[in-house]
Amino acid sequence: MARSVKEWIGKTDNTKAPPRVCQRVFDRDNGICHFCGQPIQPGQKVETDHIQALINGGENRETNLAPIHKKPCHTVKTAADVADKAKVAAVRKKHFGITKAAGKLSGPAFPKSPKPDREAKAMPPRRSLFSRCG
Ligand SMILES: [Zn+2]
Repeated sequence: MARSVKEWIGKTDNTKAPPRVCQRVFDRDNGICHFCGQPIQPGQKVETDHIQALINGGENRETNLAPIHKKPCHTVKTAADVADKAKVAAVRKKHFGITKAAGKLSGPAFPKSPKPDREAKAMPPRRSLFSRCG
C-alpha cells in the first residue's frame, strides 16, 4: 500500500502546481485526458488542468486538477471556460441592470444632400506668381 500524501493546495490561485503534484495527478488518473477520455501517449504534450476552472469558481487544489492534452483539448476547454464565464457575467449584468451604452441610432438616417456641381464652382484661372516679378 502506498504511503498517503497530504493533498496539495495552492497558497493563492496564482500558485502553480509543482511538477511532483502534476506527476501525482497524472498517475492518479492513469494518464487519461479528463477532457477527451483518451490516454495521453508518450510524446504528446500534457498539461495539468483545473477541472472546474479558477475563473468559474474552481479551487486551486490537487483534487481539482487533472491531466489534459495540451492541444487541442486544453485550448478547447479553456475557450469553453471563458465562454461560460462571459455568459455568467452577461446574465449577472442584465440581472443588475448594467447594460452597454446605446450604440447606433436605429432611426432613419439623415437625407443625403446632392453632390455640388463641379462646373459651377470652377476656379478662376490661376495667375502665376512669377508673372508679377518681371
Ligand atoms: Zn484530450
